[in-house]
Amino acid sequence: MPVKSEFSDVSISTSPYYAKVLAKILEHHLETPGRAAFISAENPNESVTWLELFDYSHSLANFFKEHRFERGEVCCLVLPNCWQYAVGFLGVTLAGGAASGASAMFTDYELERQFIDSQATAILTDETHLERVRTAVTRASLVKTILCIRHSSNPLPQGVYDFAQAVSSSARFEPDNKNFSPDDLLLLPYSSGTTGSPKGVMLTHKNFGTMTDVVLNHFHKVMYPEVMPGYEPLKESVLLLLPFYHIYGFGLLMKNIFEGTTGVIFSKFDPVLLCQKIQDYKVQQLFVVPPIVIFLAKHPAVSKFNLSSVKMMFSGAAPCGKDIIDELLNKHKTIRFFGQGYGMTECGMVSHLPAPKAKSTISAGRLTSNFVQKIVDLKTGKECKTGDRGEVWVAGPTIMKGYLNRPEATAETIDKDGWLHTGDIGYLDKDGNLFVVDRLKELIKVKGLQVPPAELEDLLLSHPKIRDAAVIGIPDSRSGEAPKAFVVRADDHLSADDVINFVKSKVSSYKQLTGGVEFLSEIPKAPSGKILRRLLRDQENAKKSKI
Ligand code: AMP
Repeated sequence: MPVKSEFSDVSISTSPYYAKVLAKILEHHLETPGRAAFISAENPNESVTWLELFDYSHSLANFFKEHRFERGEVCCLVLPNCWQYAVGFLGVTLAGGAASGASAMFTDYELERQFIDSQATAILTDETHLERVRTAVTRASLVKTILCIRHSSNPLPQGVYDFAQAVSSSARFEPDNKNFSPDDLLLLPYSSGTTGSPKGVMLTHKNFGTMTDVVLNHFHKVMYPEVMPGYEPLKESVLLLLPFYHIYGFGLLMKNIFEGTTGVIFSKFDPVLLCQKIQDYKVQQLFVVPPIVIFLAKHPAVSKFNLSSVKMMFSGAAPCGKDIIDELLNKHKTIRFFGQGYGMTECGMVSHLPAPKAKSTISAGRLTSNFVQKIVDLKTGKECKTGDRGEVWVAGPTIMKGYLNRPEATAETIDKDGWLHTGDIGYLDKDGNLFVVDRLKELIKVKGLQVPPAELEDLLLSHPKIRDAAVIGIPDSRSGEAPKAFVVRADDHLSADDVINFVKSKVSSYKQLTGGVEFLSEIPKAPSGKILRRLLRDQENAKKSKI
């Protein structure tokens, strides 16, 4: 029998997401007028109040309407973390569209792919990334509007609109709520899922609205009363470190807005600044990914700061090992609770969250509200017994509507009964804690970010001197995994450096071949043509154990 969550369900969200968010923003303004919603970590003079956030979002929606951005259209946000990201998201969705976040690290090659695939008609970016965006837009013919945040007094190129001007009107926007459906697209993050290249994950107002309520419910009913009784969000600050284009970082941005804490935004990760800001703002809860746990556990610079305000710490997006967690908790004795969460962009963000009673720091969490789960035997397809390993399947109202324009990939991931096949291998203990032990799917995770092997393989195959290629992740103590390429040469003059430099010129830094390049005479494949990654991984492990 599939297991139902032990936590009570929240009601399924049927209202427009922007309406929920904007109502909260106004509430915070009325409760604490003039207080900052967001402050920049790097430049504390840069901040925005709750009222400004509200006004700018309405103004931006008016701008979009004036520029004939229609219901159902997609705007790509190509921005580092900044308060304008929240305004961009709210303006776009208020105008009836959907937001698709792209990494600010993306090269023009990666941006072009996302612009074309998402059928984006508008882009919001900043001056730093404008040139790259403009190069990528050359082949993305549907893009009609580029909006840019300026950092200097330099004039913008012809046809590019100034964000500051777009948010300068004070008129309220009247959203088209009459034609609204909870199944309308809200967010289009990209994920490779269990196989292939990045795909647009269609998350609706219902999906993400319900997800937000699930998360808030968990923190307010399960976590805070136990770990931080009397916690008053309106008096607190939280650090927003994780990239907003990824569903985990975006979820935290929204959690910040709903709770009314002041969000201290890091435009890029800086470990020393992280410690400084924990100390300055006496931060109580921290949301991180495993490399940050490693830094806080091991780095000597950490001891120079007073981090004793931190009571609760969460890690997610990739597994975090016991030794490092023990080291962290030994060093920072004031942390009352450390836990891990587990999820996937396709499930709307998280399906498992930690709970104080779990008493396990290495579990990936417990099934949260509104979800059902089962662990399925890989050979028989039957449900596993407690303690037995199998593929993790989850179902619930927050699971994506599907991949954009990819019915086959959708059907491979969500079965006819609504189960999302996660491609992760795990087991449940007798108390309902999930342990994720392996990955059935192709995905590589570097510092919690997705590196789809198929994307790198496609790229490698476009090189004239490469006949065939396969990419796997090999363990890496700092970033979790490192991509390694196996290459069959079409020309013997091709060196490993040539391959590494080629990849470097095309994709973001975290996707580079830091695991190295090995030349083979053939890529091992099944008769169906599928790359035998498991074999390559086993060979790697065998080599390691010989050393
Ligand atoms: P994403 O869609 O980028 O959030 O990636 C989701 C994938 O990250 C999952 O399917 C897992 O493979 C991995 N993942 C996320 N959280 C955890 C965790 N706590 N432990 C192990 N793997 C995780």
